[in-house]
Amino acid sequence: MKIAVMPGDGIGKEIIKQGIKVIKAISNKYKCDFEIKEALIGGAAIDETGSPLPDETIEVCKNSDAVLLGAVGGPKWDKLPGNLRPEAGLLGIRKTLGVFANLRPAILFPQLKSASNLKEEVLGNGLNIMIVRELIGGAYFGEKKRVDIKEGQKAWDTIVYSTPEIERIVKMAFQVARKRNKKLTLIDKANVLESSRLWREVTNKISEDYKDVELNYMYVDNAAMQLIRDPKQFDTIVTENMFGDILSDEASMLTGSLGMLPSASLGEGKVGMYEPIHGSAPDIAGCDKANPIGTIMSIAMMFRYSFNMEEAARDIENAVSKVLDKGYRTSDIMEQGKVSVGTEKMGELITQEIQ
Ligand code: NAD
Repeated sequence: MKIAVMPGDGIGKEIIKQGIKVIKAISNKYKCDFEIKEALIGGAAIDETGSPLPDETIEVCKNSDAVLLGAVGGPKWDKLPGNLRPEAGLLGIRKTLGVFANLRPAILFPQLKSASNLKEEVLGNGLNIMIVRELIGGAYFGEKKRVDIKEGQKAWDTIVYSTPEIERIVKMAFQVARKRNKKLTLIDKANVLESSRLWREVTNKISEDYKDVELNYMYVDNAAMQLIRDPKQFDTIVTENMFGDILSDEASMLTGSLGMLPSASLGEGKVGMYEPIHGSAPDIAGCDKANPIGTIMSIAMMFRYSFNMEEAARDIENAVSKVLDKGYRTSDIMEQGKVSVGTEKMGELITQEIQ
């Protein structure tokens, strides 16, 4: 099985190094070989080749069974025009691979209850929300432009969705919900946005085929509030690209830290893409401070969804849980009485639990 690995920028390199240790541990345990091929993306690719997504990277990814990504971006490249920025590489590879569904589980490990910003009575016995975010449509991909006007400039981005684009993600979300607690919430802004009204119509029609799943609708502004007020009301959420981007970062704080959360991006093609939901964290890059758990949990998703190795996925998740049980914490989830460890050490401890 071939895995394309793109560390990217900032903490990307540090967290991916820990992820590779985990892949090797699984490879040893299950006696299966993984061919790991590194490729450039983002700022690192710009520095080397002038492009945030070189052709060679596209080839490596297309010829793999799964793609593992660290993070891209950083202040060094912030002044480049939009199409040449590191983030253009990320959006480009998602589009090229056709990975239209981004699965972002927000799981609160019971050991980290006190790292969450919410009170214990709101969290109950932990949280497990699945956000299914549309990934290759909406405002991030719609027509955008900037023009000069007398008073300065004018700029716009457009949210565009077609019926088939909504259908494929909503069907996937219903299937995900069916395997969980059979409750799906569509989050939109249908009181204002025409694109949201189309999402509702299409979702309503599809729900006819999933009568066993309870469907409800919520406006995004209300959802942002409800996630903090009573997160346990949610099981599976489906939403468009930009709302999903924002709400999943918000949900991450329920779980303690942005550094904890994994994601899987899937489409109709054979290649799945796996990445933590956080960015390149330039403020802590190179300091051995980054939490590698989001990346490691993304690798668990890779074994589950791309390699159909459920047992290996569970091994990884259990290893993370055991290390947290033993009291080890990176600085973002540190609390009194626990043992503070860096990125390297956390990777090592989790790998040891997999043996
Ligand atoms: P960020 O996610 O990089 O960081 C936000 C905050 O969370 C920072 O304080 C950071 O130190 C902390 N943080 C993030 N990941 C962490 C981890 N694993 N362990 C501990 N702390 C962690 O978001 P930002 O600061 O808004 O963006 C920085 C750069 O990353 C920008 O260039 C942005 O465009 C890019 N970005 C990339 C992706 C991606 O590659 N998927 C996603 C979001 C942002």
